[in-house]
Amino acid sequence: MVNSKSEPKMTEIESRSLANNYNDIHDDSLGDVLILDSTLREGEQAPGVSFTMRQRLQIAWMLDYFGVDAIEISPIISPDHKESCKRIIKAGLSANILAHVRALPEDIDVALDCDAKWVAIYHSVSDIHLKHKLRISREEAISRSVNAVEYAKSHGLRLRFTVEDASRADPSFLKIICKEISDAGADRISLPDTLGILRPIGMYNLVKTVRDVIDTPLDVHCHNDLGLATANSLAGFEAGASQIHVTINGLGERVGIAPLAEVVVALTTIYNKKLKVKLDMLKELSDLIEMYSGVRTPESKPLVGVNAYKHKAGTHVAAIIRNPAAYELVPPRAVGNRRRIIFGELSGKHGAAFLLRVLGLNSSMEEAVKLAQGLKRLRCGDLFELSLSEELEGEALKVEDKF
Ligand SMILES: [Zn+2]
Repeated sequence: MVNSKSEPKMTEIESRSLANNYNDIHDDSLGDVLILDSTLREGEQAPGVSFTMRQRLQIAWMLDYFGVDAIEISPIISPDHKESCKRIIKAGLSANILAHVRALPEDIDVALDCDAKWVAIYHSVSDIHLKHKLRISREEAISRSVNAVEYAKSHGLRLRFTVEDASRADPSFLKIICKEISDAGADRISLPDTLGILRPIGMYNLVKTVRDVIDTPLDVHCHNDLGLATANSLAGFEAGASQIHVTINGLGERVGIAPLAEVVVALTTIYNKKLKVKLDMLKELSDLIEMYSGVRTPESKPLVGVNAYKHKAGTHVAAIIRNPAAYELVPPRAVGNRRRIIFGELSGKHGAAFLLRVLGLNSSMEEAVKLAQGLKRLRCGDLFELSLSEELEGEALKVEDKF
């Protein structure tokens, strides 16, 4: 008998069956991984989203408390953003704060003005961007990028360089410009799939291509245009990238990038990585960003959506009552979410027995069967759902002992 009080926590998660015969989670060849949250930069690029200065500070504080390794913010959008960047840097958080700027000395000056220690410089590298967005040659792209790196380094900054639209750049040119940027002193290089056009093996190959020519630590930044952002980020990690870019709820330009919750839970469970993050804050972070961004979180959002821990079919409810691990990848409390049982025509006798117990009725299985039949006869679909307190749920789950 498993009740809610004895449910496993994330530290015991390996006891759950996570298809580990196939996932090879003890593959020690994969190194450590860092999490960079870009909710304050990429997230604010989501349509309709604009945080207030106070909200930005609170988000930064919460992300730092949650345990991300780096937080990215753009100081060059407006004076308000610059002030936010300044204040977040001044707050003395544990996470590295990266000021996100173009490859221009005047932008880097803004970062310096904010007292930034880290700067994230970006420049396009694909021919389509060079020709049609910037109208410059490949040689000009190299010289602008290298000049920006040298300028930042000469001012004592640590820097990450993003080679924008890397996934569509000519691989031979990508290798050349990454080598130049690396030789100029970049501390990290970020490889974005700016349009979300790669499949996981494509992201793996992109990282590997650059990994083979430079030793500079690599980031991956995967857009979600085909819903592959999380898969591609993890594939990039498998190819040797050591930092993954995420945003809370996956917010970002167009349909966004890899969501924080999915990436950190995947790393913890199916990659067996020991991250220093507080997973039980994930739902709270998601709710906060839903409120501040005005972008509603879909019910079906993995882990933090309201449907993530709803159980409906009678056979599922029966199994959940015996052992929640039967249909839950990780316990709801581990990510700050709640379990909900739906009652209606799909409840079955075990769902009905659970309901009777919750209502304090010490009923027999015959009565539970009758109730289940009654729920079916109504032909009303889902009637209602319950999210119980831990005590009451534990008490109700004891019904299983009786049948
Ligand atoms: Zn992006």
